Amino acid sequence: MMRSKTVNCGAMLVALAVAFAGCKSDADTAKKSDAAQPPFMSAVAANPPQLPVDALPSDKTGGFDGKAAYEHVAKMVSLGPRPSGSQALAQTQDYILSQLQSFGCTVETDAFTAQTPAGPIAMKNILVKIQGERPGIILLGTHYDTLKKENFVGADDGGSSTGLMLEMARLLCAKRGRYAVWIAFFDGEEAVQAWSDTDSRYGSREMAAKMAIAGDLKNVRAFLLADIVGGKNARIPREANSAKSLVDLVYSTAVRLGYGSLFVNEEKGADDDHDSFLHRKVDSVDVIGDFINNGYWHTPQDNMEQISAKTLGQVGHVFLEVVKALQAK
Ligand SMILES: [Zn+2]
Repeated sequence: MMRSKTVNCGAMLVALAVAFAGCKSDADTAKKSDAAQPPFMSAVAANPPQLPVDALPSDKTGGFDGKAAYEHVAKMVSLGPRPSGSQALAQTQDYILSQLQSFGCTVETDAFTAQTPAGPIAMKNILVKIQGERPGIILLGTHYDTLKKENFVGADDGGSSTGLMLEMARLLCAKRGRYAVWIAFFDGEEAVQAWSDTDSRYGSREMAAKMAIAGDLKNVRAFLLADIVGGKNARIPREANSAKSLVDLVYSTAVRLGYGSLFVNEEKGADDDHDSFLHRKVDSVDVIGDFINNGYWHTPQDNMEQISAKTLGQVGHVFLEVVKALQAK
């Protein structure tokens, strides 16, 4: 979830009156569901849809297996709504950790308590650390929590980028490059009540603060965030708040690989976990689909029917190539 710089409410792209209306009703709905507190494991969770997979062969996407990423998303969505502090999110953490372990990754977890408008909530960041040969860190990130809303399973918003980063981890944990690669799985990106600088991005704010204290933040050469990257009709614009050099690198890489209709040459702003690092002067880019216009953002229709293994494969290919370029610098 993100908000514009100019409007003080839920996630949206800049300058869309229609989005403003949508945001308000979204915040209202979130509050209503807080009061009613429905069971989060719903009928949706019991039967994950078996949908055809449109995956490209992984040799067409630099070794990135879009079908594997898709299957990670389907698994997480099958757990139902996964807001911070929920039992389903604890199951999601177990799933992420077991997958990372099976890939042979070195993993750290950081459990912390977030002070939210709804009271303290237990959260957990998960961090993969792949060593490099010299100082410097290429940081990748995703959020794995979903918006707290009845029947909201966040296949694209929370699921897609997490499936993508699991597949990145499978490929990268087996390698050693010039620089370290760290892959962050953030809890608590979504607002608990209504998006603001203090009610959102709990996990990434926590990690950025701890990396600053530990002295790691100054070694981060680039932060590449993915969010809402799995839509079958996805369009990924250039994110306006991101570091221009990284936006250019992502976009030019995508065009070079032939994905110019997926990565579109338009600029749109989104507030997201990259802000936690931008605020601390880390060069960061948010690779994020045009969620305002996708037709299902923050609705129960953000389900597996929206997700494309082909899109995941293409976005994953771009991430692999961008990491390769950053390793060569
Ligand atoms: Zn969201």
